[in-house]
Amino acid sequence: MTSPRVEIDLGKIRSNTRTLVQRLQRRGITTLGVTKAVCGHSGVANAMLSGGVSGLADARISNVERMRKAGITAPITLIRTPMVSQTENVVRHCEVSYNTEIAVIEQLGVEALKLGRVHSVILMVEMGDLRDGVPPDDLAACAIRVMSIPGVALKGIAANFTCLGHIAPDQPKMSALSALAKELEGICGPVTQTVSGGGSVCIPWATQAPSRGRVNELRLGEAILLGLDPMTGGQIEGLRTDAFALKAEVIETKIKQQPLEGFEDRCSFRSILAIGCQDVDPASLHFPPNITLMGATSDHMVVESTTIPLKVGSECHIGMGYNALMRAMSAPDVAKVVLDDRPYHDGAVEKATVLS
Ligand SMILES: *Cc1c(COP(=O)(O)O)cnc(C)c1O
Repeated sequence: MTSPRVEIDLGKIRSNTRTLVQRLQRRGITTLGVTKAVCGHSGVANAMLSGGVSGLADARISNVERMRKAGITAPITLIRTPMVSQTENVVRHCEVSYNTEIAVIEQLGVEALKLGRVHSVILMVEMGDLRDGVPPDDLAACAIRVMSIPGVALKGIAANFTCLGHIAPDQPKMSALSALAKELEGICGPVTQTVSGGGSVCIPWATQAPSRGRVNELRLGEAILLGLDPMTGGQIEGLRTDAFALKAEVIETKIKQQPLEGFEDRCSFRSILAIGCQDVDPASLHFPPNITLMGATSDHMVVESTTIPLKVGSECHIGMGYNALMRAMSAPDVAKVVLDDRPYHDGAVEKATVLS
């Protein structure tokens, strides 16, 4: 089979999605499935949809177009403010987009009128993460301006936490977002149909808070795909962390003397895997306990095995964190292989089909 490759277990992704959707539904919160880490892979997107997400979300229009070409008709939200140069395609392919700039929203309106559509706009509010967003003090003025632009409809507000900064979405932060929604409706009328709280980092708040306030949507990527809480790196209860696995082939195994002083008599089995920094983020890989990563270059990954030597031609099974997953899914030389799509507890047979 093609190597290196990412093996994707769609049954586990569907199961993680269903667990999270149901958990949040009990709190009155709907879930969008975020597909950017898998480059809009249509199999993954469909697994999220069959797990019950109310729509999909991606940061890049190229990923959205990939999903539309694959026949996905579910609503898709663009969660990065559109480039002016891409507004036509944004209106064509996305029902909703996140916005922070009036100039962009005006252009979305122009394109929407040309296509005879109304494009929905969510205003991204800056809540301390210091990445994208309208400052809370400017929100009402911005909303009033958006309401006057033909071709677009203001649908709500959204916040971002723990992307650039390390602001944890605690109760005071989330209450502040709810208060902003209320204040905005006081000024502009019912324009906050959607109050989108944030990504996977908001799950602990959403499941534990005494009240969700006005927040009625989360946008989940990492929790669905990897079963992890991005803030702690720990597993989220009840989720699978092994929906994705990386397979790389051993191309050299030799005994190499340790050049380190004081370790002259120590030798180990060193192997080279045919994969490198072009394909994956080495710092975000999880090797089996008997294998240690020694270093990586663009095309080689050097590992040390403490037990038996790795056989040339055999494959190493490697777990991936978010950054490794993201890079591997976008790397042209890493094949994406979907494992037989059935629930994992049926004892999934490893029958695979190569997709790309
Ligand atoms: C990536 C992203 C998300 C999803 O984040 P996860 O931590 O993967 O759940 C949500 N919202 C925005 C705006 C994003 O860019």
